[in-house]
Amino acid sequence: MSAKRIMQQEAPRNGSYHLALSSDIGHAVTCGLKFKLPRIMGAIPEGNGSFIPGFIAHNVLESATETLGQLWRSSSMPNTQEIMDAWTPYMQQVFADVREKQQGDPERNIERHISQAQTRLQGIAGVLHDKMSQDPAPNRIVSEITITNPVTRHEGRIDAIFEYPEFAETVEWKTYADGGVSAYDRNQTISNGMLVNYRYGRAEDDFTGNILTVITPTKAHNPRATTLALDAIKEAQTYMLQVLNGERLRAKLPHRFVCESCSYQSACRFYMGDRVDSDLKRTLWRRRFRVLKKRERTHVNKFLAQRLSQEQLTELRLAESGYRIEEPIPALSSTNRMHTLTLVKQNNYQNADLLYTGDSVRIIALEPGIPLLACVSCLGSIRESNECRTTTAVYSGNPNQLRGFQILLLRTEVDLTRRELEGLDFVHRNPGRVQNIAYGLLGEDLYEFAT
Ligand code: SF4
Repeated sequence: MSAKRIMQQEAPRNGSYHLALSSDIGHAVTCGLKFKLPRIMGAIPEGNGSFIPGFIAHNVLESATETLGQLWRSSSMPNTQEIMDAWTPYMQQVFADVREKQQGDPERNIERHISQAQTRLQGIAGVLHDKMSQDPAPNRIVSEITITNPVTRHEGRIDAIFEYPEFAETVEWKTYADGGVSAYDRNQTISNGMLVNYRYGRAEDDFTGNILTVITPTKAHNPRATTLALDAIKEAQTYMLQVLNGERLRAKLPHRFVCESCSYQSACRFYMGDRVDSDLKRTLWRRRFRVLKKRERTHVNKFLAQRLSQEQLTELRLAESGYRIEEPIPALSSTNRMHTLTLVKQNNYQNADLLYTGDSVRIIALEPGIPLLACVSCLGSIRESNECRTTTAVYSGNPNQLRGFQILLLRTEVDLTRRELEGLDFVHRNPGRVQNIAYGLLGEDLYEFAT
């Protein structure tokens, strides 16, 4: 069958390729608008200052989680301070980045945020010390793994999976939570747990052998994937996919007290009573759905990767396989904060040279028995390629986890639509200056607004 025919059959242009993200599902379960405002309207959250220490601490854990396996297996159980010592190089790196980005913005009290982040990490190290004292060491710890399930059209990034011989533990760091976990934290964790079930070959709602754990600076929590919670998550997922497809559905709204801590209050007030001229409103919504269509097309290769064989993916110039990582993996570059990863072509490399310099790729470790898009992977772009090697710049994911596996490079599309939606939200909420702003920021034809 020709490549064109395969494409028409497996990814018809009128098919639907939107994905529901676990982080959005967490919101949509309690409030449909809280999903729509950022993802459809393009609203930016406000007043997030209190989350900054949590973000900083989370950034440290993204890379420091790889130290846990070794610490857990060490002969003497590490105490809290020893865990913190192992994390020190990661903290120094992240804190230096934060300070550099903050330069020129003296308003932000970054040293206070860094000190709060350190306190939170200390708390998490304490909780981990207790956990390590009670639980056996996992066989393997996988961190920062993106899992896409094209069958249920669901995607999420899981903070860590602790793999044991008979079961797995889905772990989420909630670095901003001081006391208990919120409904959002619970739903997002269950949602990510569903992706972990898919990774190990079970139905998404089959939690046999999957323990859910949320680790905060004060405690480890184990949310339960009850039938009620799973039904609410599936309902939210269906709602999100329908909305992304352009269906007009009434959003489920929460109890008023939930709104008090919401970061979208002013956007919410505006869109609830939107009085913008109806022609202009129609134009803006039309444009929004054009942007969402663009986002949808960035997911098509993921659906093809699930539906086609590796040979067909090669034939369609979507993937190259037969690589291994060249050791040692160089340290993170201090200038662009990226890893440079060299992939060596193996004997079974399909000598097709399908990918070009600049192509964005998902660098996938082919883990035996795991669905392709649930395997450990990184995101990067191709720097150069010659007969023996391909060099990539990795901008997301932990390349150390790719070691020892056959590597497949899957061509991906970069999703740049968030900024476009943010621009549309800005235009929508500033109707007085809307034409000039649209002309200047979006390149929108003035004529389109005027007619
Ligand atoms: S303010 Fe309330 S209704 Fe509006 S998005 Fe936030 S939680 Fe939902």
